[in-house]
Amino acid sequence: MSEAALAKEAAALDATDGLAAKRAEFDLDDGVVYLDGNSLGALPRGVAGRLCEVVGHEWGRLRIRSWEESGWWTAPERIGDRIGGLIGAAPGQVVVGDSTSVNVFKAVVAAIRLADTASRDEVLVDAATFPTDGYIARSAARMTGCRIRAVAAADMAREAGPRTAVALVNHVDYRTGRLHDLPGITAAVRAAGARTVWDVCHSAGALPVHLDADGADFAVGCTYKYLNGGPGAPAFLYVRRALQDRFDSPLPGWNSHADPFAMDPAYAPAGGAVRGRVGTPEILSLLALDAALGVWDGVDLAAVRAKSLALTDFFLRCAAAYVPEGRVASVTPEAHAERGSQISLRYGPGAGEVMAELVRRGVVGDHRRPDVLRFGFTPLYTRFADAERAARVLGEVIGAMEEGR
Ligand SMILES: *Cc1c(COP(=O)(O)O)cnc(C)c1O
Repeated sequence: MSEAALAKEAAALDATDGLAAKRAEFDLDDGVVYLDGNSLGALPRGVAGRLCEVVGHEWGRLRIRSWEESGWWTAPERIGDRIGGLIGAAPGQVVVGDSTSVNVFKAVVAAIRLADTASRDEVLVDAATFPTDGYIARSAARMTGCRIRAVAAADMAREAGPRTAVALVNHVDYRTGRLHDLPGITAAVRAAGARTVWDVCHSAGALPVHLDADGADFAVGCTYKYLNGGPGAPAFLYVRRALQDRFDSPLPGWNSHADPFAMDPAYAPAGGAVRGRVGTPEILSLLALDAALGVWDGVDLAAVRAKSLALTDFFLRCAAAYVPEGRVASVTPEAHAERGSQISLRYGPGAGEVMAELVRRGVVGDHRRPDVLRFGFTPLYTRFADAERAARVLGEVIGAMEEGR
């Protein structure tokens, strides 16, 4: 298909896009095509004003009174419930705080503590996991006398067995964009008598997630990717309601105490999601996230998913039309049921140079060594015209680089 035809198709798709108006809620400029929202979400317009108020009034004027009067103390659970609405978790099961890495530690150790480790001493880890999950799980296994076994996520259902205490799985592979079968793997791991810890960093806010309905035991995730919470925004921890009373956190800080201001030397855990807390919450980051979550009001995640798949399909078609034959190969599955909200193209050698040149020409994706070009599609603010432009510039850059060789 010609450039003119694809550009025309993009304009038609944008004109009928039910989410198109959402883009105006983000602070974006038309000079740049931003396809890195799977690493750092764009800034929602409501955040800066709200943070000014938090700093100027709540911190500046009310000072310590804000822990009560501005609702700071309960913000981790309140904002957790807002995120719960986006990942299929009924209220009272999600708490926000700490990093994803730290929450992986809490969840994996807690899952091991729920198992009878005399017979179950195996921790299954997604072999292609985002590295931090693997590092933390390995340490958690070492501390608890368990063994780690790396297993491809696609084989997790089959590999969970009578020795398995917990399976830690990434819902969407950060490198390839492959979406794994959360309901199927969860059911199989449960049938084997083990627990699941799902890392939903690349699915929360990118596609519908149904933690309660699918029976996930624990889940963790970032808020600075598709949830647009800002750099270093705190992560979240989900603990299934049925497990909350037995959830034995390996980091029982004073914020998770049943009566923190009793300052009791003896620890007594709070009930509910609060038990996942550790220390004093990151109030400024938390409230930036809270403001950022406003963009989700009234958004139907099924519509987000439909647009995400349409965008990624369209980008692949444009790339096929614009990039010289055989130069890039998608490592993201064709099948919609196996695709997250990104497209990863293999190009090598020289993928790093290609991405650097793309960024110089106003198309921002990222490069994962050695040879993967990643393009994240965030349906709340990415347009079909952006997908077309990104593929066109990619074709130009690759063409120019190869001519120069
Ligand atoms: C982004 C990401 C992380 C990041 O962890 P931090 O502790 O926030 O740095 C962890 N796991 C996965 C799967 C991710 O995609």
